[in-house]
Parts: sequence; structure tokens; C-alpha cells
Amino acid sequence: MERLKAKIRDIPDFPKPGIVFKDITPLVRDPATLRLAVHQLLHPFLGQDITAVAGMEARGFIFGSLVAWELGVGFIPLRKPGKLPHDVHSVSYDLEYGSASLEVHRDALQAGDKVLLIDDLLATGGTALASCELVEKLGAQVAGCAFVVELDFLAGRDKLDKYFVHSLLHYS
Ligand code: 5GP
Repeated sequence: MERLKAKIRDIPDFPKPGIVFKDITPLVRDPATLRLAVHQLLHPFLGQDITAVAGMEARGFIFGSLVAWELGVGFIPLRKPGKLPHDVHSVSYDLEYGSASLEVHRDALQAGDKVLLIDDLLATGGTALASCELVEKLGAQVAGCAFVVELDFLAGRDKLDKYFVHSLLHYS
């Protein structure tokens, strides 16, 4: 995992003063670390009969698509409002200041689907919890959530206590 950590860089004061952003672009630029991350993300879910992978806009699309490819299942984009062209379900969630929403196509999943959720990073857990709710709104089951990075000090895992959470790297 040190190989992965070495490819994540801290960007101070992005997107706002006082925030240190974990930039995963060097990791996805490097074929060996990209491949390692994808394999480590999906490893606990092998043999679990996952039927689809859902990824959160935007960096969840990168890792989620590759995990879906490796598992031999399809990919479902969970998008910011107004981006999906067909009928959607929507879930709103609180941010530190204000709120945000995520949407999914209503016909993307059905009862009997077992979904693996993928994002690059778990911070407060609001995005991931909303994503789990979207999957369940469609009658599907959440098999678990997997992240490249977990910011332990923001305790996002506590919000996801109903779900299996797998993170490759922890920052405290
Ligand atoms: P949360 O809802 O858990 O507070 O925030 C997680 C979401 O915000 C994820 O979709 C993630 O991509 C994005 N995010 C928040 N902070 C960072 C960061 O420092 N680095 C990256 N790469 N993404 C972040």
C-alpha cells in the first residue's frame, strides 16, 4: 500500500483555503499503481455474485468502471443533478455548508441486483450514504462500499455502519 500512498499528493488550500486535497491523478496516471488499486478495491468482493458496480461522479467513474470491467459486470454512473438524460431517482444530503444531490436512472437496477459502490475517497460519508440510499431506492442490495482513500478523522465510516466498508489507504 505504500506504493499507492506514494502516488497520492497533498494539494494545500484546494478547493478552498484550509483544505488539504488528496490528489489521486498521479496514481491513475501510473499503470502499475492503477492496476494495483483496482485489484485491491475488488478483492474482498470476489465470489460475492456482484451484479453491478456503481460509481460516484466524478472520480468514482474512473475506479468504478475499471472494477466493473474486472468483475465482468456493468457500470452505473451516480451523477450530480441534471446530468442524466432519462427518468431519475434523486437523494439529497447535507454538506458542511448547504446541501448536494446525486441521481441515478430509475431503470439502472432492480430487485435482486447486488451492487458494489466505488469512489476515490471517503471523507464525511455523505456522498457514500446518499449513494447507498439511491441503490436501495431502486430495490437493489448494497454489497459494500470501496474507496482508495479514507480520511479517518472525518469519521465517514460511522455514517455507513449498516454497510461493509473497504478502504485501501487511511489518513488520520
Ligand atoms: P464526503 O461526502 O465523504 O464528505 O466526500 C467524499 C466525496 O468528495 C467523494 O466523492 C470525493 O471524490 C470528494 N472528495 C472530498 N475530499 C476529497 C479529497 O481530498 N480528494 C479527493 N480526491 N476527493 C475528495
